[in-house]
Amino acid sequence: MRKVFVNEPVLNGNEKKYINECIETNWISFEGPFVKRFEEGMAALTHRKYGVAVSNGSVAIDTAIIALEIGEGDEVIMPDFTIMSCAAPIVRVGAKPILIDADPFTWNMKVDDIEAKITNKTKAIMVVHIYGLPVDMDPVFALAKKYNLAIIEDAAEMHGQTYKGRPCGSLGTISTFSFYPNKHITSGEGGMVVTDDEHLAERCQLTRNLFFSPKKRYVHEELGYNFRMTNLQAAIGCAQLERIDETIVKKRHIGHLYNELLKDVEGLQKPVDKTDYADNIYWVYGIVLNDSIKIDAEEFMKRLGAEGIGCRGFFWGMHEQPIFKKMGLFEGEQYPNSERLARRGFYIPSGLNLTDDDQKYVVKKLKKVLSKV
Ligand SMILES: *Cc1c(COP(=O)(O)O)cnc(C)c1O
Repeated sequence: MRKVFVNEPVLNGNEKKYINECIETNWISFEGPFVKRFEEGMAALTHRKYGVAVSNGSVAIDTAIIALEIGEGDEVIMPDFTIMSCAAPIVRVGAKPILIDADPFTWNMKVDDIEAKITNKTKAIMVVHIYGLPVDMDPVFALAKKYNLAIIEDAAEMHGQTYKGRPCGSLGTISTFSFYPNKHITSGEGGMVVTDDEHLAERCQLTRNLFFSPKKRYVHEELGYNFRMTNLQAAIGCAQLERIDETIVKKRHIGHLYNELLKDVEGLQKPVDKTDYADNIYWVYGIVLNDSIKIDAEEFMKRLGAEGIGCRGFFWGMHEQPIFKKMGLFEGEQYPNSERLARRGFYIPSGLNLTDDDQKYVVKKLKKVLSKV
């Protein structure tokens, strides 16, 4: 049976050449030239002064939280509808995530709900741009200024996207990226923190490297981690970064073609294509089943899977996570939009190597499944 995977990376640029350079020169650890080059490249892409490479996008957020010295008793406002990587670092340092429901159409946090949740314990607002469309940042900038809060921007799904012409990754006090294989730029595993603040950049560098003292090695003023990226990962990242513009063009093409192919299909909510602050880059192509469809996303994905179409469910809200319930967090809290997205939403194949014909095939199978519910 013909299969269409939910995502596959494309590695046909300079990836092999740069990896060979690592092996030929014996530079395979963190102490190799591609790490610095990748940091500078990501900083340039996001118009930032500093890039700090780490081992994945999840620990990039840990690094940002530790750099900002968020700790016991502090509160960080963040979206409910996101990945665990955003909440875990806050909880791990003893701070409390304060959740905001999702907008039912953009799937981003409802920025209008933020101000009511600010207290004298609030230290930061974490924004997470979801699935290809950025958060509307102007209201967030205004609140951060009014209440003197840091902004942590998780731009893991936004390499190459802009908000009102400014690059995503330049919108936070500190911003983070992931380079997992389904992101616009991959390094296999990998992550990056970018910032303009010298002090924060230095704290990130120390945090990722066990807080080895710059003055005397093996002397530590604080506890850090080994979150270092290898030169091999950075070599792949550098090659990927070279074609980010092409990647965004291709991603938008995939999104627009799906929009066209699904134009007259009833029962589905499609992604928002445009707002007055950004055009979607379709990191993934999400679909939310209308209530008229009598099966949920899980069952729908199972049926599409049986037809050879790879799908992935939407995020499951932070307030519904068993681990947080066990810890007594978010008791009695409800985020109805996020709950609905978790149960009705999924995304269809959106990888860079999809052909137009693959997309037509996906939509044909999707219509077949729809016709039987
Ligand atoms: C992928 C992703 C992460 C985590 O990145 P990893 O590199 O897989 O650890 C964090 N936040 C968002 C929004 C993501 O999409």
